[in-house]
Amino acid sequence: MSDFNAPRLFVDDDLPGSITFDARQTNYLRNVMRLKPGDSIIVFNGRDGEYRATIDELGKKAGEAVASEKLRAQTRRPSLWYAFAPLKQARLDYMVEKAAEMGAGRLVPVLTQHGQVRRINRERLTANIVEACEQCGILSVPDIVEPVPLADFLGSLDGRSLVVADEALAGEEGDAIATIRAAGAPLAVLVGPEGGFSAEERALFTPRASRVSLGPRVLRADTAAVALLALVEAAFPSK
Ligand code: SAH
Repeated sequence: MSDFNAPRLFVDDDLPGSITFDARQTNYLRNVMRLKPGDSIIVFNGRDGEYRATIDELGKKAGEAVASEKLRAQTRRPSLWYAFAPLKQARLDYMVEKAAEMGAGRLVPVLTQHGQVRRINRERLTANIVEACEQCGILSVPDIVEPVPLADFLGSLDGRSLVVADEALAGEEGDAIATIRAAGAPLAVLVGPEGGFSAEERALFTPRASRVSLGPRVLRADTAAVALLALVEAAFPSK
């Protein structure tokens, strides 16, 4: 297990070796965490595993450290795809952060008829994802792809089973965990837009998806994300 007390940072540099911090990281280490040269932190780069690093220098805008002691070996990205209709900024930020925390390996924005948002800022969302990984001890940073229309998404599943949280099933009886388990891994899961799925879209995904209810209440999409991913974790506990 990781040492969750030490600050943990995602870095670009190869590990082990010397690390340079950008302005954001330097500000975090110096002004937020109040660290000094000689203090140790944890670093990972999504490729070489996780290391303990010792800070050498911490200036106003840049800093350096050396990573030498390996703490954990690199893991592969989880096979789980989390697909979602993009939301407006604050809820979207929340949703991608939670999807990373809950074990998605790839995030797929899906364009739907009732979706209100058609473009995403991948750079900003990636920064949210990286931060979630730093906080939660995740070694392999999920990727986020460009938005795809629903029909293209359905054609791109690459052998994955698809589970859709369908608000039309809200309040219906059924064992969602058993349904997800029966669908089988590797999985892609899909949460629709705030406006819900259209009848046409439901007709499109129903033949090739397992649909689940998330309970009797119709949830906001960002809540549905966490609820659905918790069911996936229950069906297929992460190792
Ligand atoms: N405006 C729609 C609700 C959309 S909720 C309506 O009133 O019907 C946004 C998304 O969250 C849905 O597309 C679905 O993927 C998911 N969701 C919310 N509540 C759900 C529930 N009880 N069961 C299954 N999916 C749900």
